[in-house]
Amino acid sequence: MCGSDLHYYRAENDGTPAESRCIGGHEPAGVVESLGPGVNGARLSVGQRVMVHHYSGCGTCMNCRSGWTQMCTSAPAKVYGKNAHGAHAQYMAVPAACVLPLPDELSFCAGAAIGCGTGTGWGALERLGEVGGLDLVVFGQGPVGLSTTMLATARGARVIAVDPSASRLEQASKFGAADTVNPDSVDPVEAIRELTAGAGAAAAVETSGATVAATAALDALANWGRLCAVGLGGTIAFDVRTFLSRQVTAMTSWSMSSVQQMACADFVARRNLPVDDLFSHHWSLDEAVPAYEEFDKQSAGKAAFVF
Ligand SMILES: [Zn+2]
Ligand SMILES: [Zn+2]
Repeated sequence: MCGSDLHYYRAENDGTPAESRCIGGHEPAGVVESLGPGVNGARLSVGQRVMVHHYSGCGTCMNCRSGWTQMCTSAPAKVYGKNAHGAHAQYMAVPAACVLPLPDELSFCAGAAIGCGTGTGWGALERLGEVGGLDLVVFGQGPVGLSTTMLATARGARVIAVDPSASRLEQASKFGAADTVNPDSVDPVEAIRELTAGAGAAAAVETSGATVAATAALDALANWGRLCAVGLGGTIAFDVRTFLSRQVTAMTSWSMSSVQQMACADFVARRNLPVDDLFSHHWSLDEAVPAYEEFDKQSAGKAAFVF
């Protein structure tokens, strides 16, 4: 389960007719049950442990060929769990190109997380470029933010984690954050400047989707600082005059390519990173109703259906 699933869950009563709704779930991992006709059996085999890049495009345009099927230029991409049936079901049918090998060291839950939330953190770091040795601030310590904290630390950044929840900050420390900042207790921009000897953060990732966080993330940047925004819901606006002399860069990042998803999985496996610790709840499919009710509170970690 992913925070994005809640957008569709909450929209359940928006008048969309039942027949045009799709099965939710866009972070699938499991085993290959069967291969369709024409699938290259040399690459995939029945029983193989796999994860899914949950977008499907034409397969031939430049974006599709580079693994960015969600950005297909030929036709609107299928997004499994959104406009095509997803993985909150016993079986799921996807084109073979969406199916990626899951390293043996990784659990299905880890593979699922890498298929969206954790992969989104990875994609943001890829967008930012080299972060090793830099002060990097991560706003929001939900599953995407915690993943970013964990991955950026493993890539050599000194991470400052920001979140109003004390328990999430505690987990951020366990995932390697060098410092934590609670914006309910202190001014986050001042705190980040103090933690960076007045310079500000060389890089920032905004995962919360809150405008106040995005504004603070921009304010907290050092000269030549780079901000990557992945949290949905907020607006970033700035006065050019204020930021002109600071030479900042602001960018967005949309999940990850299938190539990046595989690279992220290999990275996590080789460094034995505790992606499984992102999960606070495991449910059976029969428990979908209470699972969604609990997840809708957004007070715990990630949840997964395991069967
Ligand atoms: Zn997701
Ligand atoms: Zn395409």
